[in-house]
Amino acid sequence: MASGSSHISVLIKDQIRFLFDQAYTANIAILATGILVLVAFLYEGESDYIVWFFSLLVVIIGLRLLLARLFFSSEKQDFQKHANYYVIVTMLLGINWAYLTVYYFDLKNDELRLFLTIVNLGLITAAVGSLAVWMKAYLALTLPLIAGLMLMYVLNDSIYAALALLLFSIFMIKVALSSNTNFKQGRLLIEQNSQYIKKMDIEIKDRKSAQLSLEQYQLELENVVKERTKELMDINDDLEAQIERRREVEQELEYLAYYDVLTGLPNRSLLIERIRQATMKAKRNDSLFALLFVDLDRFKSINDSLGHDFGDQLIKEVAQRIKSLLRESDTVARNGGDEFVILIENLKQVRQAFNIAEKTIKKLSKHFLIAGHDVHIGASIGISMYPLDSVDEMELLKMADTAMYCAKALGSNQFEFYSNEMSQQIRDRLELENALRQALKNNEFYMVYQPQVNAQNNQTSGFEALLRWNSPELGMVSPAKFIPVLEETGMIYPVGEWVISDVFKFIKSGKAKQTKVSINLSALQCAVSRFSEKIRQHIDDSGINPKQIEFEVTESLLINDFRKTEKFLTEINRLGCTIALDDFGTGYTSFSYLAKLPIDVIKIDRSLVAGIDKNKTLQDIVRAIVTMSQSLGIENVFEGVETPKELAIVKQLQGKIIQGYLFSKPLDVDDIENWSFEDKRLVN
Ligand code: C2E
Ligand code: CA
Ligand code: CA
Repeated sequence: MASGSSHISVLIKDQIRFLFDQAYTANIAILATGILVLVAFLYEGESDYIVWFFSLLVVIIGLRLLLARLFFSSEKQDFQKHANYYVIVTMLLGINWAYLTVYYFDLKNDELRLFLTIVNLGLITAAVGSLAVWMKAYLALTLPLIAGLMLMYVLNDSIYAALALLLFSIFMIKVALSSNTNFKQGRLLIEQNSQYIKKMDIEIKDRKSAQLSLEQYQLELENVVKERTKELMDINDDLEAQIERRREVEQELEYLAYYDVLTGLPNRSLLIERIRQATMKAKRNDSLFALLFVDLDRFKSINDSLGHDFGDQLIKEVAQRIKSLLRESDTVARNGGDEFVILIENLKQVRQAFNIAEKTIKKLSKHFLIAGHDVHIGASIGISMYPLDSVDEMELLKMADTAMYCAKALGSNQFEFYSNEMSQQIRDRLELENALRQALKNNEFYMVYQPQVNAQNNQTSGFEALLRWNSPELGMVSPAKFIPVLEETGMIYPVGEWVISDVFKFIKSGKAKQTKVSINLSALQCAVSRFSEKIRQHIDDSGINPKQIEFEVTESLLINDFRKTEKFLTEINRLGCTIALDDFGTGYTSFSYLAKLPIDVIKIDRSLVAGIDKNKTLQDIVRAIVTMSQSLGIENVFEGVETPKELAIVKQLQGKIIQGYLFSKPLDVDDIENWSFEDKRLVN
């Protein structure tokens, strides 16, 4: 076994090292013993060999010490060689002592012999401590000593002493041997222990490093786990963010799908869904619900004249106002454009729907102040009821729409409940629209002129140009009926232009002599950009005196956008034409407007004239109007004077110009030639 041999070699090294370790003290002890022997022998007078012995002893001790020194000083010691030299020199030491003992075998001095014997025995004994570790060395010293002693006693015939010595020697050698064995075993144990400890150390180190790498690994693992966890959490966060974004997008999409972006109100899709749900609820609870279809009046003209942003603001305001009237449980939706639908559930009676329609109209007819503009609109409302009209949601919606159309036909700020006849009205209305389109193409329109007479001198002061339509299918249709349709469909623009050019032709023909001819303008026409330029073009082309032309505008123009209206009227005025405010007394016009705008004439509405002779209040109102207009330098025209009594009162109230059936109905162009311009005095 490699490890075994290495153990032995390590052991031998240990033995030899221990051997040399003892060298100093041992040799000094021997030297001391030698000196003692020298002194004792010299003292006793035995001097013939003792000096030699001592000299040799000193030399031998010197050699031994030298060997020990060499052993320790040499770096890579050849242990065996050193030990062998030491054994040889030790043997010389033993022989030196033995020789001394044998030399003096016949000593007469018993005391000295005993001394010498004791010294020998002491050396044999003491050598166990210093040499037994290396048995060769021990034997090298003690065997000569024993031999010397035994020889001395044999020579002195002391056989028993010699035998005792032999026994003692054998015993000592045995002691030395066991000491040697003990040393070896001890060393072996130490060696084994140290090997074991080394092994343990290595193991501990290994374990420690294993532990360390385990910890390291754990740490790394933990880090990896941490990192992975973080990554996962990041991914998770990412996913959550994505999900959140998706949810938002979905919500947005849902919102867009079901809500109107401008007003935030439910859109048509959601409305239909709500009506469907209301239908089911009402069926279960045996209750009523109402649909109110709200359409704004004049919204189109406001939108056209003030712009879409303004229109949007107005729609938002309207939505707000309608909402403020309703309960949380009611729905108001934007059906599109300027249309809103209100769904009112859990009604006990029809009357409740009536009330809400009334409230809504009242609220929406109040003026709106938006971006510095003070505007008035109105609303028309159509109402359908579940289950009275229908139990189908789409049908209910259509019915409310139809009812709204009919309400609109009645004028501004009206509401109507759906009725079966209404569907017929809608069909009529569509028929009218189609017929009007044909009329424009087929030149079915023509103009009539109603004379205006100056009540003070009975002379014809002018004519109002009035549009007529003779439809091949429908016959004569009143402009009061078809003009709103022209306005709603936008046909008023081409028709309006045709009117203007036809009236110019009429004036140019000279049939009106030098009198004024007034042309009715729809509010929509006034909003057309560069309208006044077109008029100037007509004037320039025809060479007509602009003073012969008057434009009639309605109050609705005034309340839409004051500044724009003012600009428009001023431009017309600059052309040299006059402006008449039509239907005065039916709307909201205040005199403050009249003072600020270039208005030359007010046309006092027929409703203020009809029956004025029998109505004191009307007389007071008209008197006030006349006084006021006179103070503002504004001319007045009285419309619809039909009876001499009415005329008498109008004249009494300082009415100046009269336009009415009493003097003349609107005349065909051909009849105007037969119209006498002077002396329209009527006998009363
Ligand atoms: P308006 O501008 O108030 O026109 C006067 C209306 O009163 C005319 O009705 C006329 O025939 C009627 N009238 C005149 N005197 C009397 C009377 O003594 N008794 C009664 N009952 N009625 C009288 P018309 O021609 O049916 O026109 C209705 C409305 O249609 C006009 O009211 C006007 O607003 C509009 N209109 C007519 N022609 C045109 C046009 O060329 N352009 C535009 N934008 N509107 C027009
Ligand atoms: Ca008129
Ligand atoms: Ca009028």
